[in-house]
Amino acid sequence: MKNLAETCGGDCSSCGKAETCTDGRKREYEQRKIVEKQKTLLKARMGQIKHKIAVVSGKGGVGKSTVTANLAVALAKHGYKVGVLDADIYGPCIPKMLGMRGERLNVGPPGAFPAAGPLGIRVVSIDFLLSEDDTPVIWRGPLVTGAIRQFLSEFVWGQLDFLLIDLPPGTGDAPLSVMQLIPEMDGAIIVTIPSEISQIVVKKAITFSRQLGIPVIGIVENMSGFVCPKCGFKVEVFGSGGGLAVAEELSVPFLGSIPLDPAVCDSSDWGVSFAMKDPDSAAAKAFASIVSKIEEFVGAKGAEVTPSEGLKQRIAMEDEPDVPRNSEKTVKP
Ligand code: ADP
Repeated sequence: MKNLAETCGGDCSSCGKAETCTDGRKREYEQRKIVEKQKTLLKARMGQIKHKIAVVSGKGGVGKSTVTANLAVALAKHGYKVGVLDADIYGPCIPKMLGMRGERLNVGPPGAFPAAGPLGIRVVSIDFLLSEDDTPVIWRGPLVTGAIRQFLSEFVWGQLDFLLIDLPPGTGDAPLSVMQLIPEMDGAIIVTIPSEISQIVVKKAITFSRQLGIPVIGIVENMSGFVCPKCGFKVEVFGSGGGLAVAEELSVPFLGSIPLDPAVCDSSDWGVSFAMKDPDSAAAKAFASIVSKIEEFVGAKGAEVTPSEGLKQRIAMEDEPDVPRNSEKTVKP
């Protein structure tokens, strides 16, 4: 009689012994089935989102999450329906920056729901699932990929104009897997600071996107000069013009510069976007101009860029049937 190792092809669907089988391949088979189901769901959920844009940085600390959070607000202010996936699993900051810490993710029959943030922005972050402030996520790459796949497939994002994805920093395993998970990504926005060191890493980030076949929408130069509020003198703390120089060298659009401004940092700490708090500031104006360039980019692709029902959504968020709030149930990590 042949033993199981010889007869098992790892396909339990046609095996009469699948019910009682304890072979490790059955677990692998079941795991494969789950992943396949998630992939199908992911495609369907992502198909409801008009534009998916990754926010990328060659290294941490340059303001990638700040740009993501404020760009989300700037787009929502333009009337777009916006979602943010905080894929920076090891350093999730989006809930803090949007004043959403302590929110919980609700579940209902069709799946789990993003938390509703300012202007109706729909946010999913691992931060909503961590019990303590100082709880680190100590996961290897495959677990991160699995979590992001779940965030994309099992959450009811609904119809959105834009989904911004705050990627983990760098060009390693984690950002790579996330980029590969999302079908038909429109493009990537690359965030950098003006210093020469950042110019080196930002080039890697651009090459990274290009190698994955994801168009570079453009470069945002953050922390670009500090204007003294007392005397008006501009100090180039991290140098100047680095982002523009790289954009010209690698023939990618330059989207704009955001000044180094203590108010930007304060507003992140307070969870109030400066695009809302101080719309006349140079930083907020820079974001409004970046939004126009994104509109040009998606418009040039022949895609629809008119805000769909964003304005209505902002007012109706509380009543919207597919985004429950204040439910008792929460998603378990
Ligand atoms: P990253 O996502 O690239 O790691 P963050 O967005 O978390 O970076 O920003 C790092 C820190 O720098 C945060 O405290 C943030 O408030 C601050 N910061 C970002 N951009 C600016 C800016 N333009 N002016 C002042 N502080 C900023």
